[in-house]
Amino acid sequence: MILRFAPYQLQLKYPFRLATGTRTSTPTVQVQVELNGIIGYGEASMPPYLGETTESVSAFLSKLKPENWRIENLTAILQEIDSLSEKDNAAKAAIDIALHDLKAKMLGIPTRELFGITASQTPPTALTIGMGSEAELRKKVKEAEDFQLLKIKLGEPDDKDKIDFLRSITDKPFLVDANQGWTDVEVALKLIDHLSSMNVLMVEQPMSTSTPAETWITLKHKSALPIFADESVKRLSDLENVSELFHGINIKLMKSTGLAEANAMFDRCQQLGLQTMIGCMTESSCANMAAAQLASRANFVDLDGPFLINNNPFEAPRLSRGCIQLDAIAGNGAIPSE
Ligand code: MG
Repeated sequence: MILRFAPYQLQLKYPFRLATGTRTSTPTVQVQVELNGIIGYGEASMPPYLGETTESVSAFLSKLKPENWRIENLTAILQEIDSLSEKDNAAKAAIDIALHDLKAKMLGIPTRELFGITASQTPPTALTIGMGSEAELRKKVKEAEDFQLLKIKLGEPDDKDKIDFLRSITDKPFLVDANQGWTDVEVALKLIDHLSSMNVLMVEQPMSTSTPAETWITLKHKSALPIFADESVKRLSDLENVSELFHGINIKLMKSTGLAEANAMFDRCQQLGLQTMIGCMTESSCANMAAAQLASRANFVDLDGPFLINNNPFEAPRLSRGCIQLDAIAGNGAIPSE
């Protein structure tokens, strides 16, 4: 097998504002694995707060020995790669995504069938409405006309004003992501009460990952809306400690090290009675369409990466009534553009 990889900077349509600063692009590493003329595509996305870089991903990929890989032994390959380091989740995800794409293409089946998933209908995907002036928000909500569900980023002092304004300009249901922004549990509960009267369906990561377990338990039991973990849960092994603390989990390929473990996380969430969401970083259609292969398993879908960039190297996902369309084609469903 041949492995190729190259850095690629995804350009955001709108600057992404965070407490730590504003970002206009996100680095990725685009990966290809090739066998007998068939190419599997993968992608590592590295938002800075996760600690991986173009250099760290390239260094990790340079250590691999694809000439020894046998695609029939995909599970063994992924276990071996995982054992090389404690971290490098996005780098591992890029290889996992590319190898599943390749394997499914060689078998002539959509990747979801490798996991026994036959459903091709997915729940509607959310589109994130980034913050801005009232004029900008009106423009963004109008641009989201193909979507049935909007995701709103909160976690700043003017949260109530923001949500009230957005509610006044659209009837669509909202998902709220506080990105660890709320610091006081009573204040958070009061705001969640308000959100529950505003057609908000759930709240993602309301407080910091360092929040003590007792605080999460209070929040979970008193919250008027389901509380989902995002930054608090990365991999399968994290799930055991958190099922008492949250109603649900946001599963992302860049955190989970790829499709194989993300699918195992869906299994475990089902056993633990946890709700699920499938989400993404800033990603092109490459990683996003791979995640979409698992989306029929999720309660909520937040696969908006390709809709928030303007230099997608793959064809944009197609939407039908706000849901990402899964075709019957072999592989992950990401088709290089042009
Ligand atoms: Mg989030």
